[in-house]
Amino acid sequence: MSAYNVSRQTRLAQALGVLEPEHQGLVPAVYPATTYLRDADNGYSRGRVYSRADNPTHEPVERLLASLDEGAAAMLFSSGMAAAVAVFQTLRPGARVVAPTVMYWALRNWLREFCEQWQLELELVDTSDLTEVQSALSRPTDIVWLEVPANPLWHLCDIAAISELARAAGARVVVDATVATPVLCRPLTWGADLVMHSATKYLNGHSDVVAGALVTRSADDWWQALLQQRKAGGAVLGPADASQLLRGMRTLQLRVQQASSSALYLAQALSQEPGVHEVLYPGLPDHPQHQLAVRLLPDGFGGMLSIRLAGGARHAIGTAARTRLWHRATSLGGVESLLEHRASIEGPGSPVPDDLLRLSVGIEEPAELLADLREAIAAAWENR
Ligand SMILES: *Cc1c(COP(=O)(O)O)cnc(C)c1O
Repeated sequence: MSAYNVSRQTRLAQALGVLEPEHQGLVPAVYPATTYLRDADNGYSRGRVYSRADNPTHEPVERLLASLDEGAAAMLFSSGMAAAVAVFQTLRPGARVVAPTVMYWALRNWLREFCEQWQLELELVDTSDLTEVQSALSRPTDIVWLEVPANPLWHLCDIAAISELARAAGARVVVDATVATPVLCRPLTWGADLVMHSATKYLNGHSDVVAGALVTRSADDWWQALLQQRKAGGAVLGPADASQLLRGMRTLQLRVQQASSSALYLAQALSQEPGVHEVLYPGLPDHPQHQLAVRLLPDGFGGMLSIRLAGGARHAIGTAARTRLWHRATSLGGVESLLEHRASIEGPGSPVPDDLLRLSVGIEEPAELLADLREAIAAAWENR
């Protein structure tokens, strides 16, 4: 049995069995050097030159990520956005991109501007509707961007069916799997070409590192172009952050399992709550894509859900103002529970209803999280 040939949980806990080479320390070393000594004969026989190109601190983290996502290789970036941006920067004017109407808003906004600036054709479609995707892919396309589950309404998309359609249209499929994490969903095994993660969220899990990653199915020419894009563009993760990320990842399985089971408990309980008129969570049997969710996320439906408050925007904002355990903050995937009125942060033009609160469920005692939220919902209803 090797450290590679075991369950995801064991691979995570032991970070694939990595040791620090000089002293056999159980935690790999951090390599702060930005530059390396050139040989007397003017060569670089050890292969290291400058740490914008590569840094040995990244490598155990990248190996672990590739292993978790069942990919050929992984690459760390300075943020999730940097990882996503690198993907689109490999395109040329005239290229065509299909992306979800409802997705991580900062990326959607950036993508709109970037496509306009560089004369790329962007079509936003409801990726949960296979016929819409099919008609978008009736024309040659370069990239299909997907997100599972998609922020903040938690729609799902059929990655396997879309990957087949995409192949016929000549497109590559890239999946933002930040919310699912490799613990719950491995898009490459469903036919996607590339996975993107904001490692700022669940992978690190402690709200103290900004990082991103790409994981590829094959180390092909496109992957080489992406490596070159990171090296030249310089969106590299600092070695201290890479080391801290690896520490966070060792507990990924436990954190995701807890967040996921607490989210299901909260979704079920909040469905019965008088002040809540709708709970959006793929784990609920009345979610329109529950059957797909069971196939795509067989080990849990994730730690993210949204609720729509019966008293509208004032009720939603008033609830967020009154919680004591839930912190009002953006971001997700940390050990502490967060809630956010998404329409406020996304601004005008957002497709998110203004009565919606997005909940990122942490690893606290779930009954306490529920009680805190219930009190806040009731008090905000009284004062609406
Ligand atoms: C946060 C997030 C991103 C962006 O990642 P950063 O690390 O903040 O740059 C992209 N996609 C999703 C789904 C996210 O939640």
